[in-house]
Formats: sequence, structure tokens, C-alpha cells
Amino acid sequence: MQIDLIRNFSIIAHIDHGKSTLADRLLELTGAVSARDMRAQLLDSMDIERERGITIKLNNARLSYQALDGKVYELNLIDTPGHVDFSYEVSRSLAACEGALLVVDASQGIEAQTLANVGLARELGLQIIPVINKIDLPAADVNMAQEELLDVLGIDPDECILASAKEGLGIQDILEAIVRRIPCPQNNNKPLQALIFDSYFDEYRGVVAQIRIKEGRMRKGMKMQTMQTGQEHEVLELGVKTPALKPVDELSTGEVGYVIANIKAIEDATVGDTITDASAPAAEPLPGYKPAKSMVFCGLFPVDGEQFEALREALGKMKLNDAALQYEPETSTALGFGFRCGFLGLLHMEIVQERLEREYDLNLLATTPAVEVEVVKTNREIELIDSPAKLPPVSSIEAIREPLVKAVIITPNTYTGAIMELCQKRRGIFRDMEYLDKTRVRLNYELPLIEIVTDFFNKLKSVSQGYASFDYEFIEFRESDMIKLDILLNGEPVDALAVIIHRSTAESRGRKLCEKLKELIPRHMFEIPIQAAIGGKVIARETIRANRKDVTAKCYGGDVTRKRKLLEKQKEGKKRLKSVGSVDIPQEAFLAMLKIE
Ligand code: GDP
Ligand code: MG
Repeated sequence: MQIDLIRNFSIIAHIDHGKSTLADRLLELTGAVSARDMRAQLLDSMDIERERGITIKLNNARLSYQALDGKVYELNLIDTPGHVDFSYEVSRSLAACEGALLVVDASQGIEAQTLANVGLARELGLQIIPVINKIDLPAADVNMAQEELLDVLGIDPDECILASAKEGLGIQDILEAIVRRIPCPQNNNKPLQALIFDSYFDEYRGVVAQIRIKEGRMRKGMKMQTMQTGQEHEVLELGVKTPALKPVDELSTGEVGYVIANIKAIEDATVGDTITDASAPAAEPLPGYKPAKSMVFCGLFPVDGEQFEALREALGKMKLNDAALQYEPETSTALGFGFRCGFLGLLHMEIVQERLEREYDLNLLATTPAVEVEVVKTNREIELIDSPAKLPPVSSIEAIREPLVKAVIITPNTYTGAIMELCQKRRGIFRDMEYLDKTRVRLNYELPLIEIVTDFFNKLKSVSQGYASFDYEFIEFRESDMIKLDILLNGEPVDALAVIIHRSTAESRGRKLCEKLKELIPRHMFEIPIQAAIGGKVIARETIRANRKDVTAKCYGGDVTRKRKLLEKQKEGKKRLKSVGSVDIPQEAFLAMLKIE
């Protein structure tokens, strides 16, 4: 392909502003997919992505477009995820492009991820094409959206393309803008450098690495080398996604495609690594990306101890396609053998759990989400701790530092008060506030990460009736008065229920946690005291009263089917119970921390 006919671009948008719908229209209009084959949101391929309407894994497609100038262009569309948990994947895909379509919902205007994504795109020097979408909606306010783009991001209103992805309006204008405004890739006649911007594991073919050729060319049959590992492999297949895989003999500078080279483990073709020619290697690799960093941790335990090996295997398989997932074996006195897992955020955690259960038929218990803290010990050593159970004895702790984030919240100003109150409760430090237009404001806060992973997002949505949007990035670990809150059932500390929290919130949360646990743990044949304690000192207590009645007693032994039904129902309810000592604890109890104010 002639390099001046190539355009590589991504679509960036706040969630729900129409990125996937627009991608569909582009595929349709360029004939990559016939309207008949068109499933809604073709690029969102994973089941969960469809159900939840989010894009998780990157996916790309090559489109062939005959522009108004008569020439046929090769447009490579690289999809990006649209959730705050996945922003590192956004920068991955952007690094493979020269430009980005910025989609903004005409009825919503700029939202938190709009800002975050534009920030990423500008850092990488991409040409941004603003698209104001959903102009078909009665609530669309194109002027408002344009004004915001100008005021907040300095985007010229004349550059904005008005579109409706749903109705197919403005799609050709967008394609023309891609061709005219986005620069073509550069060719510096240097040795091969191909950026791996995504890779997935195929059971039959091994690793399929998605690549962008930055310099040089790649041919089928050549010996390639991944620069980080130094490993060499023969290129067995090269191709492009249309979006179906289509083999080609060669990929040259500027092109986007995939490579299969009998690579057995995803670690050998890590995202961000550079592929070069083993016989004429490049002097240096391309700048990679920061590796994905786990922000949220929890224990995953099989409800049935026999599933431990199956869980290990499932996590191993999942890790092949999810570089951001981390795990290591963990033993809990309460829950037995399981794994401590690290995730990008709460959504990522939910998705992984859901996939493990659905795709590998496992029944799992997840413990309270936690964040990593830095523990400064009296001997001056610094240890990173990702689980309350791993906290060293109090006597050897000099200080604890917790992760802080910079949070951006955008909201209609009617909710400002309620949101500030929420942030206050969550130990937020107010930084500043700015009006985006007459009715909407941007709030900047510093917030402890732990306060965000414990259900901040849902609370924010509920106090703003769904209108506030939110984005955050890690700033630093900062010294904070953190303590371990133990929960005792029947006098026994349950390690999987312990949490590390701030001293100022410990008492009230301890109390509420006990109340919540009392609701969630079913009655047993005996009385169960629930206690919250700090360093051995009990700060709250509740009691679950004994249940003397047999659940089937009121059937009077008469109706057998009814009795069986009842017992079956009881068994059903037991599915996610884990016996700890003599107490059955349901899954909800481990997530009770998320449910309290
Ligand atoms: P994404 O999260 O950015 O990928 O957004 P989607 O493409 O999934 O769209 C979110 C919702 O907005 C879906 O219900 C779409 O049908 C709807 N939508 C997308 N584009 C338009 C549009 O131009 N007009 C209207 N009315 N709805 C749209
Ligand atoms: Mg989408």
C-alpha cells in the first residue's frame, strides 16, 4: 500500500456517547461489513461487553474507502475501551495512530472521560477530529457542545462535524475528514520496528499479536525478534482484520495488522514491545507504555475447595488474554485456598469474576476489595501490602501510606452541593472548581483510592441522578492514619472480612458493618456474636439470634413436594455460602463494606 493513502485512527469518547455505534456505521459505509451481516456493535465482541455495553478488549478493522478525490484509502480503525478502569488500554491503542475521532454527545456535552481521552491523545501528538454526535435527539444542543469544546479544550467550532451515528448522518463527512485532516504515516527508511498494541491468545494458533508497523516492512517467513525478550520466531502468518482475519504476504510502514509466529505465551509478545527483523535489527525499541498497574485487589476463593486447581487453570487461561490481571496463591484461615488477584478497577474485577464463573463454570467467593498500601516499618524498610492479612504486626509499623488519586467530576451545578458532601465523607480534599458553561461545573478533588473503590461511582451517580461523570488518575502514596479493622464471628477473627481503613472512619464503619453483617448472615441454630475490633479492642457488636425452627416444620410433614421444593430452595441459597468455623457466610457478607454509607 502506498503510504500516503494510509490513515490510522481511533475513536475516543466518554462512555455511551456513541463510539461503538459510529464504528458500526463506518464499517457499514465502507463496505467492510454488509448491512445484512451487521450485528449491532460489531467491534464489541465479548459477551459481557455486549451485555454491559462497554468495550473491554481492543479490536481493530481495516476499511477501504474511496474518497471524493477519487483515490482509495486504507483506513485502520482501532477501537478503544470506554471505561475509566481501562484508560491504560486507551493509550495503547492511541500509540498506534496518527489521529483520533473525538465523539461528544450533543445532549450531554463534555464529560470526564472526554477530558481524560483528549489529554492522552494530545500527549501522543494526535490530530483530533471533533464529532458532535446524536444531533437527532430532541435534547441535542449543538451550540452548547461547541462552546464547551472551545472553552475547555480550545477546539475550533468550525472543525466540529455534526453527526448522528444512529441515523447515519454525517458519516461521509467524517470519512472525508479522516482522509484530509489526519496525516499519513511517516517512512524514515529505517529497519523494522513494529509496535505490539494488543495481543490475544488463540488456543490453536498461539499468540496473535496486533501490530502497527512504525518503520520498515514485515514479510511472511522472515525471522522476527521481540526486542524486550530477545526471542526469535518465524513469521507464520501476517494479515489484516477486515474485521475477519485476512492473511497477506507483507505489511509495510504505516500499516496495521496481526502476526502469528508460534508464540506460546503472551509474555513473549507483551503489549508495548517492539518487533524487529532478527537479521537486521533496529537500534532500539519504540517507546513502550507503562505496564498496566493493578489498583484494586481481592481474594477469589472457590466455594467448593475441590475447584481450587480448576480456578488456577482458569486464571492462567484468562491471564493469556488479559495482561492487566494479576494473581498469586493466597491462603485464608476462613476461606481456605484461593488467589489474591489484582485488577485495574472495580469493573475489571467484576468482569473477571463473571467470566471465570461463566466460561469456566466455577463458583467463587470474592472478598472485600482493597488497595495496595505502603507500609514503612520501624526498621525503615518499605513494604507494599495488598491484603489486610499481610499487614505486619502494629509494633513494627512506623507509618502507612495510602494511594491518592486526582479526581475530576463533571456535573450540572444543581448537584454540586451533594457531590461535595459525598467527597467530604470520603475524605476528599477539594482542589478547585470551574464552570464549563452556565449550568455545568468541573470539580477537582484529591481522594484516597480506597474511598473510590468502595462504591464511590454508584454513590456519585445516585446523588447526581446519573448526571455526574467521573475520572481519576493515581498521584502518589501519602502518609495516612490507616488501621486494620478486624471482624470477629463467634469470637473468631475472620481474616477475609478484615479491612484496612482510616482511623477517623473506623468506628462508624465498624458499627455499620456489624449491622449489615447481621442482616446478611442467615440465622443458625445457635447465637452468633458479630464484633468489630481494632487491635484487639472491640468497638462494635451485634448478635444474630438463634433460629430454633426447622424451615420445613411448618409444612407439618404433609406435602412432600412442597417440602422438597423448600429444601431445594434452601440448597440454592446455600450455593454461595462458605462455612467459616461453624458459621455459614454468604458472598454478600464479603462485599458488605461496599454497601454501607
Ligand atoms: P459507546 O459507549 O460510546 O460505545 O456508545 P454506544 O455506541 O454503545 O451508544 C450508546 C447509546 O447511544 C446506544 O443506545 C446507542 O444506540 C445510542 N446512540 C449512539 N449514537 C446515537 C445517535 O447518533 N443518536 C441517538 N439518538 N442515539 C445514539
Ligand atoms: Mg462501546
